[in-house]
Amino acid sequence: MRIRFTDYPNIIRLNPNIPYKTRGNAAVALRLEVPDAEYENVREISIQTVEDISEIGEQATDPAVVFLRGKPSSAVRRLSRKALTEVVSVRETVRTLRSSCGSAASYGMGLGLVGALAAVGENLEEDHTYELIAYRCRQNLGKPRRVDDDSVVKMDGLTSPGTFSSYDARNKRVLIKPHGPDPVLLGLRGETPEAVHAAFRLLRIQEPVERWVVFRTNHGTEAHFKAAKPRASLRANCPVVLHGVVYGWPSRISGGHVFLELLASHGVVRCAAFEPTGRFKEVVAKLIPGDQVTIFGGVKERVVERRSSLTVNLEKLIIERLSDDLVAENPRCPRCGKRMKSAGQGQGFRCSRCAYSSSKVSKRFVRINRSVLPGLYIPDKKAHRHLTKPFSRYGLEKRRWDGKPPVGTWHMP
Ligand SMILES: [Zn+2]
Repeated sequence: MRIRFTDYPNIIRLNPNIPYKTRGNAAVALRLEVPDAEYENVREISIQTVEDISEIGEQATDPAVVFLRGKPSSAVRRLSRKALTEVVSVRETVRTLRSSCGSAASYGMGLGLVGALAAVGENLEEDHTYELIAYRCRQNLGKPRRVDDDSVVKMDGLTSPGTFSSYDARNKRVLIKPHGPDPVLLGLRGETPEAVHAAFRLLRIQEPVERWVVFRTNHGTEAHFKAAKPRASLRANCPVVLHGVVYGWPSRISGGHVFLELLASHGVVRCAAFEPTGRFKEVVAKLIPGDQVTIFGGVKERVVERRSSLTVNLEKLIIERLSDDLVAENPRCPRCGKRMKSAGQGQGFRCSRCAYSSSKVSKRFVRINRSVLPGLYIPDKKAHRHLTKPFSRYGLEKRRWDGKPPVGTWHMP
């Protein structure tokens, strides 16, 4: 009997607002069909591999592997959902793992257990995407990534929207290459395994690729907002979706960040759109009191002079209804048409050209054209998080997974 992958390896992104997360707050799940006789063997190989490749003993390195047989129980699935939107404790994770008859190996503080079990429990039955990750050879780690930028731009033009989040045309920024010394050369995101593979073949890569793997993921699915529950109060480090009315005029602080107050059922909520969000923050800056909006973001706690306050860092905005922007204007002179001036409190208006005056004319309210339209707004691509759903994915959401096991996913050159 052989061991068989029943799914692509999964990369599951969890609550992006967790302060002590690993970068990107991701975990990997492998789903395998294993004959009983091989189960212990697979467990041992997995644990050995994690011990070999993790920097165990480094600070904030808490890797973990969990093993579950059969379909994830409803308790595990609930924990998964919670890990997308809240802070899940190690204790709760261990309890859930025990109740599901799972086993685990964990190192450091055991924080890795949370992500590991949450990843196993998220089987991506609904919306999902794919990412092809290509890895670097050891001798190139830390050196600039030699992937030709022009080929990325060309690939993006040829394969989008089958692929997404490769290139930010507005800011002329290539997004497939991470920065830093990690072993990932590039990551290509797309709707199907075929799309990311075709895109990969269009790239001009000028360094050896150690290997590449296609993962099935929740990237670009805004799973964290879909799982966000309405709550009676804001909670730090949780994603939130709020409907409300703009309460105060937006303000801009140094650094280009834009702040906004929203009147929601929670009371007045402070929101922030940060500078890197590009045009998004400019739209936020154009809102006025009375506009009806739905905001999507992550709740962050800020402590200034020992006083703590909560701010929603905006990740998405739907403008539902614009309020009328009215300004009061002095009336025009009925005789000569010139704009009249106030003759004093309660005295009416007076024309400075023909001296006509009247206490019967009054100010008029005039509607100003708004330079923003109702609709959906998201930050510039360069500011997207892994879970951000890019514009190109709206309408492409998948209802279910066809369950086709991977073909030719693994490739060792
Ligand atoms: Zn006049």
